[in-house]
Amino acid sequence: MSDIIDNELLRYVEYLQTQLVTEGSEPFLNGERDWFIKSRTTLQQALKDKVPENDLDGSHKKNALLSRLDNFEPATKYDSFFPSEIFSQVLEDVINIYANLGINLDVEVELYNSPSMTVGAHARPSLYGHAIFAGAGTTSFCNYWAKIYTTISLGAAQRGMSVFEEAAVNDTITDLNIAIDAFRLCVHYGYIGTVRGFGRLEQPQEMHADRAILVHSMEVFIVAHEFYHLYLEEKYPESNGIPPDHTEKDVEELCDAMALAVVTTYGIEKNNIYASHLLGPLLFFSSLELCEKVKNVINPDVTITSDSHPTASERVAFIHSFVAQGDFPTYLYESLDYMTRLTQIVNERVFFLLDVFQRQNVR
Ligand SMILES: [Zn+2]
Repeated sequence: MSDIIDNELLRYVEYLQTQLVTEGSEPFLNGERDWFIKSRTTLQQALKDKVPENDLDGSHKKNALLSRLDNFEPATKYDSFFPSEIFSQVLEDVINIYANLGINLDVEVELYNSPSMTVGAHARPSLYGHAIFAGAGTTSFCNYWAKIYTTISLGAAQRGMSVFEEAAVNDTITDLNIAIDAFRLCVHYGYIGTVRGFGRLEQPQEMHADRAILVHSMEVFIVAHEFYHLYLEEKYPESNGIPPDHTEKDVEELCDAMALAVVTTYGIEKNNIYASHLLGPLLFFSSLELCEKVKNVINPDVTITSDSHPTASERVAFIHSFVAQGDFPTYLYESLDYMTRLTQIVNERVFFLLDVFQRQNVR
C-alpha cells in the first residue's frame, strides 16, 4: 500500500476512533499511554526475567515481543499497545479459520484500538482497508468475568466435584466470597456502563492459565463476529451488509452463528475447551445479560432494547437454539448445561445481594 493511502487510512481510522470515544475514555487512554512509555524498559526486563534463554520456543516469541515493545509507536492518538497486541493475534487466527471455510475478504482488515469504554467491538468497512476496533472496554469485561467463572468452576472442582453439584458451587461461592465480587462488578457496570476501571479482583495464581484461555475464547468469538460483518459488507455493499430479506437483527444472529462455528473450530485446533464447547460466548453474553439486568434495576428509565441489536438475553437464547439445532457431541451439551446452571446460581446470588442493599437504602 502506498504511503498516501496509508496516511489516508490512518486519518480515517482516527476519525472513526474519535466517534467511539466515550465518557472518561480520553483521560484513561492518556494515562495508559504515559504509563506505557515510562514502563517500557521495566516491561522488557520483566519479560526477559520470565522466559529463560534455554526455552527456545519461548525465547523466539519473547524476542519478537521485545522488539514489538521497542518499536511500538502510536499510529493515531488513540492507539494503544496492549489491545493491539491481544486482538491482532486473535484476528490472525480468525482470518485463518474463515479462510479454511472458504470465506475470505477482498480488502485487507486491520485491528485498531477502540477508545470506547463499552463492551462491544466495532467493524468499519473501507475500500482502502477494513478496520475492526476493539479495546480495553472489551478486554476488561472479558477478564473480570472470566475471573469470576473460572474461580467458581475450578474452585468447585477442587472440592471434589466430578459432575454438577449445586452444593459444591454454592460452597465455593461462599468460601471464596465471589458473589460480592460479581455483585460489585454488576453495580459498577450498572452505574457507568462498563467494568473498565473497576480495580483489583483477586484470583488464586493457579487459576490464571484457565482464565486466559476462557478470555481467549470470548475474544475469538467477538472478532469472528465483526469479521463476518465485513464479509457481508463486501457481499452486499448497496445495503450496508444486509442480505435481501434480512433485518439488522437477523444479520446480528447470522454473525453470531458464524462466530460460534469459528470458536468451536478454534477450540478444537488450540485445545481450548472453553472455545470448543462454546462456553466463552455463553459466559460472555450471560455476564452481559446479568450486568444489563442490574443496570435496569438501578436505572429503570433506561431502556435496554434496540431495533438493530438483539439484547444480551436474546443472544444467550440464540446460543442455546444454535446448539439445539446442531449435531454436537453429548459432552458439549453437558458442559453448556453445567455452565448455564452456574450462571443461574450467580444471577440468584447477585440479585439476592441487590435486594439486601436496596432494602438497606430504603430504610
Ligand atoms: Zn454485530
